[in-house]
Amino acid sequence: MILCECGEFVKKSTFKDYICTSVNPSTRTIGHEKCGIIFNFFDDTVSKKYSSRKELKVLAGRFAEKNNMDPEVIGRFLLEVDRLKSYGNMPDRKIILEAYKKV
Ligand SMILES: [Zn+2]
Repeated sequence: MILCECGEFVKKSTFKDYICTSVNPSTRTIGHEKCGIIFNFFDDTVSKKYSSRKELKVLAGRFAEKNNMDPEVIGRFLLEVDRLKSYGNMPDRKIILEAYKKV
C-alpha cells in the first residue's frame, strides 16, 4: 500500500501516467485518483520519504482526518508519530502505519 501525500492509503483508486524520472524521461507510473498526486517510485519519493517533523505532522493530521479518528485518538496518534519520528531513522509511511496500529 502507498501512503499518499493527501493522507489516504491508496489501494485501487489510481490512474496511469507517465512522468520524467531519473531512470527514464517517460516512466510509467500511477497517481491517486482522488487527489491527483502522481507517485514517483523511481526516485523514491514515496516509500522512503523522510519529511521534516513539521511536514510529517501535517501528513499525520490529514491521515487522522481521512480515517475519522476521534479527537482523543488523534492526540495519541500524533504523540506516537512524534515519538517514532524522534528515533530519526524511519520513513514517513512506516511511522504513520506504526502509530496507527498503536492507537
Ligand atoms: Zn491522494
